[in-house]
Amino acid sequence: MSIELHHDQLTDPVPTGRQLHVGRPNLGPREELDRLIDGIYARRWVTNDGPLVRQLEDTLTQRLGVRHCIAMCNGTVALEIAIRALGLTGEVIVPSFTFVATAHALSWQGITPVFADIDPRTHNLDPSAVERVITERTTGIIAVHLWGRPAPVGELQSLADRHGLQLMYDAAHAFDCTVGGKRVGGFGRAEVFSFHGTKFFNTFEGGAIATDDDELAATARLMRNFGFSGYDNVIHPGTNGKMSEVCAAMGLVNLDHLDTVVKENRRAHTTYTNLLRDVPGVSVVQPDPGEAHNHQYVVLEVDNDRASRDGILARLHANDVLARRYFWPGVHRMQPYASADPKAGERLPVTERLAAGILVVPTGPSVSDSDIERVVSIIRDAVDGRP
Ligand SMILES: *Cc1c(COP(=O)(O)O)cnc(C)c1O
Repeated sequence: MSIELHHDQLTDPVPTGRQLHVGRPNLGPREELDRLIDGIYARRWVTNDGPLVRQLEDTLTQRLGVRHCIAMCNGTVALEIAIRALGLTGEVIVPSFTFVATAHALSWQGITPVFADIDPRTHNLDPSAVERVITERTTGIIAVHLWGRPAPVGELQSLADRHGLQLMYDAAHAFDCTVGGKRVGGFGRAEVFSFHGTKFFNTFEGGAIATDDDELAATARLMRNFGFSGYDNVIHPGTNGKMSEVCAAMGLVNLDHLDTVVKENRRAHTTYTNLLRDVPGVSVVQPDPGEAHNHQYVVLEVDNDRASRDGILARLHANDVLARRYFWPGVHRMQPYASADPKAGERLPVTERLAAGILVVPTGPSVSDSDIERVVSIIRDAVDGRP
C-alpha cells in the first residue's frame, strides 16, 4: 500500500464561532479567578516567583508525588530548559509521531533529534526501534506519553541504563495519568508538562518540569530566571522561563475542577465508543485498563483500506466539526527535519501509517452527547458514501 503524503486537498477551515472544536479550553469559574486576581492587584506582585506560582508548585508537587515541580511560561521552554539542565548534546532519540515542539526544543539548541518508530497498538516509542538508532553521538531519549498513555517506562529505563543515556519524558498529554498506579511525573530524570489552553489542565499558557533530582531542580530554577541567585548575582547561563501570577491563578482555579472535566471527558469517550462500534473501518483508541487517565483526546483510527480518513475529515469540516489530523504528517516530514533527512520515513513505517489514519474528534465538557450523535452520523454517512 502506498500512502500519498504530499498533495493535500484539504484547506484550513475558517473559524466562525459555530464549530465544535478539538482542544476547547477548560476554564474554571470566573468568580474564583477574579478573587485571586484581586489579590494580585493588592500585592502588585505579577511575576518573578510570586505567591500564587509557589502555591501552584506546592500543590502540583504533592499531586504528582515528586520532590520538585518547577512552573514555567510554557511546555516548550520547559522542555528546552530540562534538555539543557540534563546536559544533552549531539543526538537525542524522539518519536516523530508527536507535536513538533518535542523535536524543535532540541534543534533550537543545536541538538539533532533522531526519530524512532512507534508501537502500532500504543502509538508510543518502541524500545527496539529506539535501540536500532543509537549511535556514538546519542546522549539521551525523550519519550512522549502520547494521548496520555504512558510510554513503556520500565523498558526505556533499562535501555537507557544499558547504553548510558539520559532519559526524560514529554508528559504534555499525561497530567493525572498513571502507570502501574503511579502518577506520571516521577519517571526518568525529569518529566515535562504543558499547561497550554488546549490541554486537560491549563494555566492559559504554562508548563512545568517535575523531577526527584535535587541538583537538576536547582539548575532548572536558575535557568528559568536568567541564572540569578539573589539580586545582582548571576551564577549560571539562563533564559526567561517564568510563569506569571495570573497564569498560576488560572491553574489553581482549574485544579479544583478537574474532577468534573475528567468525568465529562470519560462520558464523551464512552459515547463515541458506543456509537462508533458498528461503523466499519473506524475504531476508538482505548486507554490501558486499570490506570487513571485524563481522556483529553478521543482518537479515532481509520483503516484507509475500508474508509477514507481524509474523506471523513473533509465531511466533518464541511459540517462545522473541526476534527484534527494529529500528528500529521509526522515531524520527520516537517522542516527542518524533512530536508535534513528526506528518507527518514523509510525507517518509520508505523509512524507513516498511523499519521495517515488518525483523526482526533471534539470532546470535553462543552461537547454534549447529542453533539457526539451528530458527529458520528456525519462519520457514518462519509464511510457509507452517502451524500
Ligand atoms: C502541547 C505540547 C507541547 C508544547 O507545549 P506548549 O505549552 O504549547 O509549549 C509539547 N509536546 C507535546 C506532545 C504537546 O502536545
